[in-house]
Amino acid sequence: MHPIRNGFATEKQRIVIVLGPPGSGKGTQCKRLAQFLRVPHLSTGDLLRQHVESRTNVGRKVEELLKRGVLVPDEIVMKVLRDRVTQADCLGGMVLDGFPRTERQAHLLDDCLHATRGGTSMHVFRLIVPEAVIIRRIAGRRTCPTCGCIFSDCSDRIENDLKCDRDGSPLLVREDDKEETVRYRLQIFEQEISALVGHFAKKEKVIEIEADRAVEQVTQAIFARFCPTA
Ligand code: AMP
Repeated sequence: MHPIRNGFATEKQRIVIVLGPPGSGKGTQCKRLAQFLRVPHLSTGDLLRQHVESRTNVGRKVEELLKRGVLVPDEIVMKVLRDRVTQADCLGGMVLDGFPRTERQAHLLDDCLHATRGGTSMHVFRLIVPEAVIIRRIAGRRTCPTCGCIFSDCSDRIENDLKCDRDGSPLLVREDDKEETVRYRLQIFEQEISALVGHFAKKEKVIEIEADRAVEQVTQAIFARFCPTA
């Protein structure tokens, strides 16, 4: 167990939001942070993909949008998120990954948290990575269609080698990781980020993290914000 955990004031629900463009390492950092804080990691992208895989009504509605990298309507995302946030394991808090993505979603989140719990303590991180680095990172990213694991730095591995370390499935480029779609997703991110940061900055500090460096260094920079002596 990390020593910082012992120092937490745990009465309030801890909500951690990590903002960042696709390819910024958001998913990886959110997973680590969730483990560290011992709260669930909620990725709206993952929740939506699970619906697609399970062929639910929601899944059928959003499948095409996900492939094209288009934002899913707020009503659908909110339903999926609310269903998850109201589960017992989220009572102590959560790490939100990929949500909110717009200012309106940030308002809807405020309402949702008011409706589901009492006090919250919120931490908002923004991962900063240059666009050229993002494009390069995503070009080397592969996903396992069976277990959903994401593998980075695959571009220099030979084609036959591209198998999932866990279950041996051949790795694929996720439909929305194709370069044209990534550029479109980046464009949407850039359109929304200022208003989103503005929304949070009114209430709490948005902590900028330089994320164009080794994963471990980024993790330490984030953890340090929970305990300056870490
Ligand atoms: P991600 O895994 O976070 O990159 O999300 C993959 C896709 O899921 C996005 O390109 C959107 O189509 C959809 N999505 C995920 N989160 C949201 C959200 N908060 N609002 C709207 N669409 C979302």
